[in-house]
Amino acid sequence: MIGKDGQYGAGPAMDHKISLNHVVMLVAGSASVVDADRLRDLTQQNPKLRKMLMHYEQFFLAQVQQTCACNAVHDVYSRTCKWLLRMQQLVGDDMPLTQEFLAQMIGVRRTSVTAVAGKLQDAGLISYSRGRVHILDIAKIQQRACECDAAVNSHYARIFDS
Ligand SMILES: [Zn+2]
Repeated sequence: MIGKDGQYGAGPAMDHKISLNHVVMLVAGSASVVDADRLRDLTQQNPKLRKMLMHYEQFFLAQVQQTCACNAVHDVYSRTCKWLLRMQQLVGDDMPLTQEFLAQMIGVRRTSVTAVAGKLQDAGLISYSRGRVHILDIAKIQQRACECDAAVNSHYARIFDS
């Protein structure tokens, strides 16, 4: 997940221009697109920019590794809470989010997400209607999330504070 704190594609742009993935924008907002040749020129002229972009590439890889481990060992309930926690950090308390899309993000069937969303709504932690999730109690969601969000935030701090 990439939000206002990140970028996508700088590594391939600085090297050989091959991007193996598609990027999907879930929430409307502003983003900048920089031509790969222009970015490569800028990073050659500005070592600090190159260092910052490479740090984010390192962080993104750490986030992917943590997500792989999370999907293998943590249950759907705690993973959903972790995912909502991260989304809240990126876009705030109100998010456009269908249960189908959330199921894809968590890597489970829609029925599993529907059950978890029902539990969270019954507990008063979220409200959900017509493809929108509203966070009502982020502190309690954080308590129920697995430790992976904290681990990812720790990686971010270690990489960018060095
Ligand atoms: Zn986890």
